[in-house]
Amino acid sequence: MKNQYMHAVALILTLAGKQAIAAPAHQHGVAELDVAWDGAKIELTLFGAGDNFVGFEHRAKTAADQAATQAAVDTLRAGSKIFTFDAAASCTPVQQSVTPPLSDGQDDNGHANWSANWTFQCQAPAELQQMRVRLFEHFPALRKLQVQFITADRQGLQDLTPQAFELSLLPE
Ligand SMILES: [Zn+2]
Repeated sequence: MKNQYMHAVALILTLAGKQAIAAPAHQHGVAELDVAWDGAKIELTLFGAGDNFVGFEHRAKTAADQAATQAAVDTLRAGSKIFTFDAAASCTPVQQSVTPPLSDGQDDNGHANWSANWTFQCQAPAELQQMRVRLFEHFPALRKLQVQFITADRQGLQDLTPQAFELSLLPE
């Protein structure tokens, strides 16, 4: 019996480990940004702890909570203020959506995540050299952005911070 029990524990640990890898880590002060540049289109997907954007992760109960949530949604929706590109590339946001946690969006540990995505269309994508991510200016609780990028030429990972918030889009 003891052996069977040990096997069961090992199986649970294995499953828990896999789940931890599949789900993005929930870390306050850190968010993840996926950047996919294909032709004239740039798609951006943000995922991170609610604490980064509104300073809390409980259900927005008070008027102040609801106002903070609405303000964060409005800021994130203004894609052209969050991401800036080389002017010559003429990139404009054509789609954006922001998803704050549902009213009961907390997980078992009391944490909640926000996600948002944007699509930019560029009239002269050949002029693209870099993207500046201005999330840190608007959300001071955010201290690190883990960026995963894919362009026609390369893909990779880069951490952005309030001091280094430029992502190079030039081929290597
Ligand atoms: Zn949390």
